[in-house]
Amino acid sequence: MLIAAIAGVMTWSLLEYLIHRFAGHSRGFAKKNPFGVEHTAHHSRGDYFAPWWKKGLFTLAFVAVVLPVASALGGVAIGVAYTAGLVGFYLVYEVLHRLLHVWEGVGPYARWARRHHFHHHFHDPRMNHGVTSPLWDIVFGTWRRPARIDVPVKLAMRWLRDPATGEVYAHLREDYALRGR
Ligand SMILES: [Zn+2]
Ligand SMILES: [Zn+2]
Repeated sequence: MLIAAIAGVMTWSLLEYLIHRFAGHSRGFAKKNPFGVEHTAHHSRGDYFAPWWKKGLFTLAFVAVVLPVASALGGVAIGVAYTAGLVGFYLVYEVLHRLLHVWEGVGPYARWARRHHFHHHFHDPRMNHGVTSPLWDIVFGTWRRPARIDVPVKLAMRWLRDPATGEVYAHLREDYALRGR
């Protein structure tokens, strides 16, 4: 069951990459699927996220397909463990992605995850599609190590700027700068 749960986690990790890269960013297709439309709005507005009810409905529909199939293949216990690993790690991704945008975070992983993701947002949306890890970017050759990240002033994260001065907080200036003002 532990192996099934880990397989579920790895399945989400791969889906996170594939959905973002192909449904979110492939030319043409991104305009024609609901994830792509929401994701384009997320990129152009910065603090926009698709509403929870859409994510909830998608998750329910997904579980309604995956759980019976996994249970038929491996038995109910294995099917439940696999689905729980997959959906559980999907929820981790959702929370993490939201936090990247709204909170500065603490520790080396928080710093890495924000730099990895904001390089994707503000420098090259063809790179760094993974959010929770760089694994599939490395596998598929879309990984870039970010240099200093230049954030458009209009899309600046709320944790980046000191509201008193409008400048990037001093302790973040090594990692980020503002452009477009
Ligand atoms: Zn984002
Ligand atoms: Zn994107």
